[in-house]
Amino acid sequence: MVLQLGSRQYSPQRIFCIGKNYAEHVKELGGSVPGQPVVFMKPVSCLVCPGETIQIPAHGNNLHHEAEVVVLIGTGGKDIPVPAASSHIAGLTLGLDLTLRDVQSDMKKKGWPWEISKAFDHSAPLGTLTLYSEATPLDNIPFQCSVNGAVRQTGNSSAMMFTIPDLIHYLSGIWELREGDLIFTGTPSGVGPLQRGDRVALHSDLLGTFEWSLA
Ligand code: ZN
Repeated sequence: MVLQLGSRQYSPQRIFCIGKNYAEHVKELGGSVPGQPVVFMKPVSCLVCPGETIQIPAHGNNLHHEAEVVVLIGTGGKDIPVPAASSHIAGLTLGLDLTLRDVQSDMKKKGWPWEISKAFDHSAPLGTLTLYSEATPLDNIPFQCSVNGAVRQTGNSSAMMFTIPDLIHYLSGIWELREGDLIFTGTPSGVGPLQRGDRVALHSDLLGTFEWSLA
């Protein structure tokens, strides 16, 4: 998968995802607020371009939308300090961290890794990237998710428990970040089910509108 951003192309090799990054969403799932970022990954083969059809997986019964701000890393680095983190960002967009909620609950109960509930084919629909500049307020990105025209999730990056610079700092302390890395930064409250035939749309005044249908 090649991502276009202005005149440049990026070939992501990794998708980092952050769980439990909005207190209201942690509350709705009945979990506890984490003391450090909750990190998991999806393979790049999960990405779905805007306008493409999302295939609903057959190995679960409750597919949830999770609308998220997504960061594209432009300049890699290890142990990136928080104040320098924004200079490593190339682009921003919105994405969906699609989750089979019933399968995830089952995996959590068993204490097993939750990949089959989070990292299946088509689990990472991704909007078109917007070039990042220092003028973009990373701590004030409003966004929403609607299904068949009805708003289901309304969020703002201002409510993140770990900010985008915090996340870049944290991840780069574990992995050397690389050009093209994507970071799904967590979802606000309002997650809910999707069904065959639904149209799901992500919107931010800063980042655009992206839509998919489900089959
Ligand atoms: Zn998520």
